[in-house]
Amino acid sequence: MDRLVLLDIDKTLLMGSIFHYTALKAALSQVYGIKNPCYVHNMQGMTDLKIICETLTMEKLDLNTIKSGLNECMELMYLNLKTVLQNNDLLVLDGVKPLLETLQKHEIPMGLVTGNIESMVWLKLEKVGLNKYFQFGGFGDKVIKRRNLVKDAITESEKYIGKINYKNIFLVGDTPRDIVAGQKLGVKTIAVATGDFTIEEINNTGADFILNNLKETKKVLNIILNQ
Ligand SMILES: [Mg+2]
Repeated sequence: MDRLVLLDIDKTLLMGSIFHYTALKAALSQVYGIKNPCYVHNMQGMTDLKIICETLTMEKLDLNTIKSGLNECMELMYLNLKTVLQNNDLLVLDGVKPLLETLQKHEIPMGLVTGNIESMVWLKLEKVGLNKYFQFGGFGDKVIKRRNLVKDAITESEKYIGKINYKNIFLVGDTPRDIVAGQKLGVKTIAVATGDFTIEEINNTGADFILNNLKETKKVLNIILNQ
């Protein structure tokens, strides 16, 4: 199938970002001694690496100090999330499982584009049983800019499915940053209003397709097969 669908995770496939930030907050305290960080305004759609770096810069830490703790910080974020998820559930958004099932039945390759650290991605997806649909993606522990996540995901996809024409790649996400990243690379963009942005804000992104949610399986399939 000469198609590729790239999906964001938080607020596109599932809900539970609060646990992600609980894990981040604890790691910042454990590694850098920052107990109550003043977070960067509007982190939505940013990569974890960027969130960590910008948060610590706002706390006046110098670059060398930040860099020296990054690996440990990300490892602890993963371990903290693992602990938190032992007693908490993540919620898969309505329509997601039927959609992924349908795309898989049509042999449409699927990948991930998320600002999450990769180890946390597989932990979250395994927790909700969505890991079986995905093998590759672009993840937020390696890059600062979201558009590079999309690039990474496409490069990774080539190992599995070969090269795909960019006009046949569909990026699905809930934040304006998701959509802008896709537009910068020239792939098709599908915005879903399942996150914290209103349909009007989502409209303003100029995404190729705008959906209230992913419940309309046939509509999404139609976009992917016929555009
Ligand atoms: Mg999201």
